[in-house]
Amino acid sequence: MILNLKKIFLNENEHLEAKTEFDMSDISAGGMTFIPEPVSAEIKVGNHAGLVSLKADVCFRYHFLCDRCCEHFSRDFAYGFSHILVTDPPEDGDDDYIEAPDYMLDTDALLRDDILLELPSKFLCKDSCKGLCPKCGKNLNEGKCNCPEREPDPRLAALSRLLEE
Ligand SMILES: [Zn+2]
Ligand SMILES: [Zn+2]
Repeated sequence: MILNLKKIFLNENEHLEAKTEFDMSDISAGGMTFIPEPVSAEIKVGNHAGLVSLKADVCFRYHFLCDRCCEHFSRDFAYGFSHILVTDPPEDGDDDYIEAPDYMLDTDALLRDDILLELPSKFLCKDSCKGLCPKCGKNLNEGKCNCPEREPDPRLAALSRLLEE
């Protein structure tokens, strides 16, 4: 959504609220689309004593493969973001400010970046996920496999022999 914020920038105590949805289904890797359904966002922009700020609450469903067991899962996420908006690039190059050149702001592009920065880089289906057997590849959340228990580390075996002597 492109917001025209001229009225907000030029009038103290002016504000607006907007609801929107936008698409992030182009974000994919290995044939998997992470956010196939639209992201919904509630946006508030206000001018308080000459300072224009934007607050946005976004929610979306994220699809992922568990980093340990490789199964497919989806989870709902909700994030809140806030930014200070300026019409001219700040002189000190501070990127804490978001530029709205000619009072126009593309909220989709801004919130897409916010979401991508906020998402964790790794996902587990649950903290206690047991993962896959490194030998046979069975999903150990579904039960034990028939592989022999882990062979003792030869260095530890040598150490325990030393201790026994
Ligand atoms: Zn898992
Ligand atoms: Zn196994």
